[in-house]
Amino acid sequence: TSFNAAVAEAGALNAFIVATPEAALDAAQKVDAARAAGQPLGKLAGVPIGMKDLFATRDVQTSAASKILAGFKPQYESTVSQKLWDAGAGLLGKLNLDQFAMGSSNESSAFGPVVSPWRRAGEDKALTPGGSSGGSSAAVAARLCPAATGTDTGGSIRQPAAFTGTTGIKPTYGRCSRWGIVAFASSLDQAGPMARNVADCAVMLEAMAGFDEKDATSLDLPVPEWAANLNADLRGKKVGIPKEYRLDGLNADVAKAWEQGIAWLKDAGAEVVDISLPHTQYALATYYIIAPAEASSNLARYDGVRYGLRELPDGANLQEMYAATRAAGFGDEVKRRILIGTYVLSAGYYDAYYTKAQKVRALIARDFEEAFKQVDVILTPTAPTSAYALGEKSNPIDMYLGDVFSVPPSLAGLPAMSVPAGLDAGGLPLGLQIVGRPFDEQGVLNAGL
Ligand code: GLN
Repeated sequence: TSFNAAVAEAGALNAFIVATPEAALDAAQKVDAARAAGQPLGKLAGVPIGMKDLFATRDVQTSAASKILAGFKPQYESTVSQKLWDAGAGLLGKLNLDQFAMGSSNESSAFGPVVSPWRRAGEDKALTPGGSSGGSSAAVAARLCPAATGTDTGGSIRQPAAFTGTTGIKPTYGRCSRWGIVAFASSLDQAGPMARNVADCAVMLEAMAGFDEKDATSLDLPVPEWAANLNADLRGKKVGIPKEYRLDGLNADVAKAWEQGIAWLKDAGAEVVDISLPHTQYALATYYIIAPAEASSNLARYDGVRYGLRELPDGANLQEMYAATRAAGFGDEVKRRILIGTYVLSAGYYDAYYTKAQKVRALIARDFEEAFKQVDVILTPTAPTSAYALGEKSNPIDMYLGDVFSVPPSLAGLPAMSVPAGLDAGGLPLGLQIVGRPFDEQGVLNAGL
């Protein structure tokens, strides 16, 4: 009965879009056979993994939680998922997400929202597990799988980790191949692991990362042994606290968790110093120009010809088929991004919006470069609040404001991780974000231990 109860509970979370227990079992049996034959085992031997449904998986539906990909079964495997299988892991299923990873609450999914396993003390309201990797965060938090993959364009690994008391790291842009991951905003998209703790994330990331000639932005660097080199001793390390992140009226519980994090790092031997990231206030506006611009270009491929859905009204010509397919296939948030993106890229507005945003992006990246001359890592809250109720944020701008702390490191391509930092007054998890220098995932992981 407890197994059945667990399955019912899992269904209530709506975390999995497709379940593939036979593939996970198959991986485990291969491990048994390899062990019996005395062969070496991979670093994820037999581990069942939930894959965000943005990673192409051969012969298994890959939907990006959008109707426009309905029934799409890729004939190829994403580089990151293939690397996980090569390390001995098995696919447990495909995890729900915000449609095309656009969103912060999982409510833009065509499969309905994911429900967090957490509740506010004394309330029964269904809460968001965060987004866009909300299926991943809920599945790990509810112990449906020991680890999952996420993708992060402006916070989609870190914010759901913060909302569910789990740990998630977005590595340096280029560490994980983007090949076979449904594209949202290509200059920002990065894959990363979500798991119960820092050590599990380190092992997962070792398996996921690495150069791939099929992704032109892939980093041609060896993958370090992060797990073997974890070290909680921070003596001699400097941690920066950016003054621009002390927002007016910052949630008191979030501010308290941040103070707690500072105290933990000092206890571990680190020196904590105030720093400035002067262009922080422009980061959200910059992100919400660049990300939709790239999205509008990437999503042009969904034309009703090549993938999934095709709406072909009687007598429709090609243009009408495109229009009908896109009208029926894309959700509201996706359409909003396409409208914003095509607007900022249009001939009349390109310089005023897109070019300007690229210039500001460079200034934001330079802020971090300057700061990292003084400090080894930066500590901030991951999100300005804990999880909120499903349906609570009806205005897209309110939703976008929740990305205020996670977006700047994305614009700069930096490794950034969210670690659990206790509970708020309502008993809900809070997360802290650790940002590091390019390629210094080790420094980020160590500070999070
Ligand atoms: N919430 C942000 C957005 O909606 C980030 C999403 C993501 O990182 N995929 O764009």
